[in-house]
Amino acid sequence: MSVFDPNLIHPKSPHHLSYGGLNRNDMARRDTGLIKRLTAQLETRYIIVWRGLNLFKSDITGLKSMRWLTIEAVSSFLDEAICIYLGKDRSQVEYVCLDISKYPEDKLGPLSANGQFGDLREANPSISGDDGSILAYAKAMCHWHAHSEHCSVCGSFALSSEAGHTRKCTNVDCAVVHFPRTDSAVIVAVTFEDKILLGRQAIWPKGMLSVLAGFVEPGETLEHAVAREVYEEAGVITKNVSYQHSQPWPFPASLMVGFRAEAVSHKLTINTQEIEIAEWYSRDEIAKFDGVTMYLPRPLSISRRLIEEWLYEV
Ligand SMILES: [Zn+2]
Repeated sequence: MSVFDPNLIHPKSPHHLSYGGLNRNDMARRDTGLIKRLTAQLETRYIIVWRGLNLFKSDITGLKSMRWLTIEAVSSFLDEAICIYLGKDRSQVEYVCLDISKYPEDKLGPLSANGQFGDLREANPSISGDDGSILAYAKAMCHWHAHSEHCSVCGSFALSSEAGHTRKCTNVDCAVVHFPRTDSAVIVAVTFEDKILLGRQAIWPKGMLSVLAGFVEPGETLEHAVAREVYEEAGVITKNVSYQHSQPWPFPASLMVGFRAEAVSHKLTINTQEIEIAEWYSRDEIAKFDGVTMYLPRPLSISRRLIEEWLYEV
């Protein structure tokens, strides 16, 4: 058992991208010799991220599982890579993420021969929860580094520190330490009597319907954000907003916080500047979705789970 066993820390089973795959071992990050020591260990596993894409094992079904590499395969990339200590798994094996985004595509040959770079959202649904959580963690950290090269206070270069978990401004008169950011977003299954509210944004794939979502604004609670988003998008007043579970969503840097809520009325006033359509659907109506002109989000998403939890609760 891990101290971070996701099956114990919350009564509901963990999401695809949120298994406790690693002990992040944050105390070790302060050891300035940590990365050097880990690169000297043959057992260390390297998780590669290139320009937002993870490295996968793949087959004809697509991106199948996480591809980690050994020092032998990655040593030629260490000079230009950002090294981020990720932690250790249940077997005490250590993981280091290498952000090799500075390398042009034609220099990736030695790595591409070991796997396939791809978007984590396109991974085969059979990918394990541990793999998914490690890949999401690595991808999110690399996104933060890519957008934090310079100090947001004075504009000077900020140097990666604490094994990749902070960046410190190199201007000695500033010396601000910057930390990774996560953007909170709420996502909510709103119900009224025996129906659920589903809608779609115009930019989504044609036919996909999902629950409503939106970013939390400064100065509001998560529950307030739920009520505000649902009202802004569909004109629906909600009550009994209750937390369900959450999912890291590093596309590029979000934490999706899932809720249930009840509508006080079925009346809808759609804000077409935010969503294309929204409508109430019964379980029978959703069962008749044809998968082409009407279908639900991908199985591994928190939106799909919120919908399915309502679908199957009676
Ligand atoms: Zn600065």
